[in-house]
Amino acid sequence: MEEVAARRREFERLLAATWALAREAVAAEDELPGGERRDPARLAAELGLALGDDGLAAEEVLERLRALLAATPSTSSWRFLNQLFGGREPLAVAAEMLAPLANVSMYTFKAAGAQILVERELLAHLGRFAGFADGEGCFTPGGSLANLVAMLLARDAASPGAREHGVGGERWTIYSSAEGHYSIPKNAGILGLGRERVRRIAVRRDGGMDPDALAAQLTADRRAGLRPLFVNATAGTTVRGAFDPLEPLAALAREYGAWLHVDAALGGSLLLSPRYRGRLAGCERADSLAWNPHKMMGVPLQCSALLVARRGALAASLDETAEYLFQADGDELNPGHRSLLCGRRNDAMKLWAAWQHLGDRGYAARVERQLDLARRAAEKIAADPALELAEWPPSVNVCFRVRGADSRAVCDRLDREGRLKIGYGEVLGSPAIRLVCVNPDLDDAALDAIFAEIRAAAS
Ligand SMILES: *Cc1c(COP(=O)(O)O)cnc(C)c1O
Repeated sequence: MEEVAARRREFERLLAATWALAREAVAAEDELPGGERRDPARLAAELGLALGDDGLAAEEVLERLRALLAATPSTSSWRFLNQLFGGREPLAVAAEMLAPLANVSMYTFKAAGAQILVERELLAHLGRFAGFADGEGCFTPGGSLANLVAMLLARDAASPGAREHGVGGERWTIYSSAEGHYSIPKNAGILGLGRERVRRIAVRRDGGMDPDALAAQLTADRRAGLRPLFVNATAGTTVRGAFDPLEPLAALAREYGAWLHVDAALGGSLLLSPRYRGRLAGCERADSLAWNPHKMMGVPLQCSALLVARRGALAASLDETAEYLFQADGDELNPGHRSLLCGRRNDAMKLWAAWQHLGDRGYAARVERQLDLARRAAEKIAADPALELAEWPPSVNVCFRVRGADSRAVCDRLDREGRLKIGYGEVLGSPAIRLVCVNPDLDDAALDAIFAEIRAAAS
């Protein structure tokens, strides 16, 4: 045991050094770490990334880690606006830093202990917000895989033999809006349903799926002998942050016997706010809902949940027998029966820690700050003669253009020069810069600094 004690002392020493690195990394966030875009081959050489025969002393590795962090963009910097996450809930990060110390795998209560109860509490709580009174759920590595599981459940509900005998011959169709997430066709390919069976339904001017267009496509498909399987409604589209109208989509899905899934990877968090949850009115009529707390809830990647309205559906599609693994306790305490994965990291504790601190009310206020920020950003754009709002922001995505400039060129220059990471997307027929207002630590001064950078890059 003496060697064990010595190794532990060494680990404790490394923890202290790591803590110092963390403080440095956080202090560097005002300037976008990573800075100017650099030649990847030179960067790899400068950082000493190559792995070799001989090991390095711990001190040398820590030095290289320091350099590596300095070359890694921090999504908590006010200069990072490129993705649908940004900023952080401090307690979520603190809990995430502790999770690998226990390093449990979330398949059984025997292996993960109280962490399973944490996850169960979260799934029930998220489910209540979705309006699934007697539902179930699972954590997945990301929203794309939450959507995959939803589509799998729909397939198996429609054809109980599919899991056993495979798919083939069924003439299923899948519906998602023209602005729905790319994981829908991707998942159709993975599940053997066929990418070509995904109907991309037109959106209305506000970016939500047009129910009349959906109805027309459903009718045409049924007339052609096809079988509507899965309607994917998006709550918070990836580029525009728009919401599909769930009530009419729910009615159509029911009429045609299709599974209704709500891809609320981005917009699920609006359910937390009494002021904004109406945007998802009707979601309680869905069969499943995907929600990414790693987007608007400030929890580090990854943290995604699939919520399912009907209990038992997950196990019907995912359960396997494994005597070596499932050795104690009932199925309910062993989420491995309901998971896409075998070994699975603990994505629950970080969300639980932040939620313990904020409570439902604090999370509602956080979401409302994000939407307020988007509104203020839109007002600043509308008041700025150099800028042009592409549309009033449906939620946290603020899309706009610099008059007389190419949105793509502006974003590219900001990235090359290490000023801002910000992206663009197609809005109502032409590219627009997408400013994602998910970091509630941004204030008016930060918005002003962001627009100043953008104007400078365009000139
Ligand atoms: C982000 C997003 C996804 C994908 O989630 P990942 O966690 O990145 O896999 C799916 N759908 C929508 C609407 C999203 O915004």
